[in-house]
Amino acid sequence: MTKRCFGLVVFSLFILLPVCAVRAATDPVAETVAKWLDAMTLEQKVGQMTQVNLGVVIDRNIKERVVFDPEKFREALHRYQVGSILNSTSRALSVDEWHEVIRVIQDAALKNDPPIPVLYGIDAIHGVTYTKGSTLFPHNIGMAATRNPGLVRRIAKVTAMETRASGIRWNFDPVLDLGRNPLWSRFPETFGEDSHLAGVLGVSAFMGYEEDGLDAPTAVASCMKHFVGYSVPANGKDRTPAYIPDVVLWEQHLPPFEAAVKAGASTIMINSASINGVPVHASKHLLTDVLRGQFGFEGLVVSDWEDVIRLHTRHRVAETPREAVKMAVEAGLDMSMVPHDFSFADHLVDLVRSGEISEKRIDRSVAIILRLKLSLGLFENPYAEPEALVNFGLPAYQELALDAARESMTLLKNSDGALPIASGARVLLAGPAAMNLGPLHGSWSYSWQGDKEEAYPETTLTLDEALIAKLGRERVETVAAVGFDNEGNYDTNSLVEKAADVDYIILALGEPAYAESPGALDDLNLAAEQKALARAAASTGKTLIFILAEGRPRIIADIEPLAGGILLAYRPGSQGAQAIVEVLLGEHNPAGLLPFSYPQFTGDILPYDHGVLASIQQLTPGVITHEGYKPQWPFGHGLSYTTFEYRDLALSRKVVGPGDTLVVSSTVSNTGPRGGQHTVDLFVSDLYASLSPAARRLRGFEKIYLEPGQSKTVTFELESNDLSFVNTDLQRVVEPGEFRVQVGDLAETFRFEED
Ligand code: BGC
Repeated sequence: MTKRCFGLVVFSLFILLPVCAVRAATDPVAETVAKWLDAMTLEQKVGQMTQVNLGVVIDRNIKERVVFDPEKFREALHRYQVGSILNSTSRALSVDEWHEVIRVIQDAALKNDPPIPVLYGIDAIHGVTYTKGSTLFPHNIGMAATRNPGLVRRIAKVTAMETRASGIRWNFDPVLDLGRNPLWSRFPETFGEDSHLAGVLGVSAFMGYEEDGLDAPTAVASCMKHFVGYSVPANGKDRTPAYIPDVVLWEQHLPPFEAAVKAGASTIMINSASINGVPVHASKHLLTDVLRGQFGFEGLVVSDWEDVIRLHTRHRVAETPREAVKMAVEAGLDMSMVPHDFSFADHLVDLVRSGEISEKRIDRSVAIILRLKLSLGLFENPYAEPEALVNFGLPAYQELALDAARESMTLLKNSDGALPIASGARVLLAGPAAMNLGPLHGSWSYSWQGDKEEAYPETTLTLDEALIAKLGRERVETVAAVGFDNEGNYDTNSLVEKAADVDYIILALGEPAYAESPGALDDLNLAAEQKALARAAASTGKTLIFILAEGRPRIIADIEPLAGGILLAYRPGSQGAQAIVEVLLGEHNPAGLLPFSYPQFTGDILPYDHGVLASIQQLTPGVITHEGYKPQWPFGHGLSYTTFEYRDLALSRKVVGPGDTLVVSSTVSNTGPRGGQHTVDLFVSDLYASLSPAARRLRGFEKIYLEPGQSKTVTFELESNDLSFVNTDLQRVVEPGEFRVQVGDLAETFRFEED
């Protein structure tokens, strides 16, 4: 028996014996954890609360292999005995490399006394970013267009399996922030602007990650993030202040988190920024009173990157780094993603020794961390598990990625049957998304920024390759180049020249890959050189199609009239090019629905659930209109190659009371030429309320498939809670009065009355 195994067995006995002895006790895990805490020094406890970047323990000068720096490694694993390590090197590693990284780290951790395995964490937010050969799925913004919770769940399950197969058991996902400010660079990570949609899909993702039980080889601990209000910075820039009225925080931003907490999510990450001037990492109100107290969250609260020290360096609410640590721990933090040094641990030990923070407070956090490690089975086997490895890279995942990409495709415009492309036609493909994979994948794609073209698997097709594979080289002209900014992508002369002989011009436009702050925007307009490309293409008189590979809606109002067809692909992932081509050729009938309002003007960014007053305009003195919501395309917009009609909207009652269920049904028919999926979005409007109400709010959605001529009746059940809103006392209330329910182009009213 090696020394390592011996240590593990001894420690297992140490933890298992008390479990047996207290079998009759109400919470044997608590007893076990209490015994561990007794055996740990203060420094060891604080070490558990410390998370460092992998870069802290490796030699960063060596890029091609992971080489641990013995000195730094000893400091992290033995001197500080850190509880968690995160992230990759600057690249994706192979499964074998990951296993070795995990083996070396756990070997070291288990030599400590007591031997406590390290919890490794990673960002796998649309598939496993940092493992070579993994499958990348559409980003959440595209998944929200699918309106398919089952698909979101299956994708999360595959992501969990490929993460766990890599030897990693903690994934910093799902993102539950709302995409309500399209300037924000992390918009693509969100499930869009609607709180209900984000809640349903966020819980589905959580289920996919955790539903098998954390000790299962198919599961990982999920991490809801970024609690809360991160996504609506006033200036649109990442990690900058948000100003959110309490009613809005409670109405829109908190519910997805509350839903995931209630579903049992195990960890949560804090918003790096501030709300109304209060950095969330320093907010005892949000982290303790709301999250623990009101929501009943019992899991682990981890900081975001360097955010404890930033209470001092950036937010300037703490005069010293030590004060910053005190603030965050007092607010309710369990683990600090420090991540570059051990300052958090040093300050925290000092704060306890000086009596400013009690050891009992430390014990609370360490108990949560140990419990999580226990539930993940790390004490039984902290290494990569053979039974997890068999789940890596299965061919079925590519099929799933293709299904997801297909379902996310959102056809925004199709004039005069511009799409699908007629059979036998010749096409010209141009634009920066034609030969680059970055725009199809976006952030967290085999690298943090997702912009390293060479990091993508050779098997992943560009749009150009996918189109040629279908049509043959002889029917495809290409004016494009590798590298988003390569001027070969913007050569309008060649474009016009080569267009002479084609029937269609397909412009693959959009955004390069970006993640976090480097994706900052000052202007939501699509880049000028891309618009020039569109104008040049239009001058040829050929049928013009835009593909938009973008993480957030870039404004195209001035070039929109030039295109016959516009397909929004979002960030569709590994099989994205294939899915786009299938839609272009009519092999797949698109059914995605916008999960946000696509703005038409830079100065007019309004979500669909704006307050009613925002729709009112007086452009001519004395003339009032209700046309203030004027996006390029509204929330829920999305075309199909067939047509759907709604009839027979029926309500089970016209008067609803507090305990009643209101059944709403409507029949949808496919009145067009081909079969297709279709999502019925159901909206409710409170017509008069003590707080000026929202124009309408999504309260249900149902996706169906209809053959041509087929009809289905879709039924929704609304409870009182679906009619409620958060009032100025921050109470969720339903007020008596008139309501309207809307599905498709049909609407009916009903009354809510108290008994
Ligand atoms: C991001 C988080 C991420 C963390 C760890 C931070 O910069 O804000 O979303 O989980 O890094 O990589």
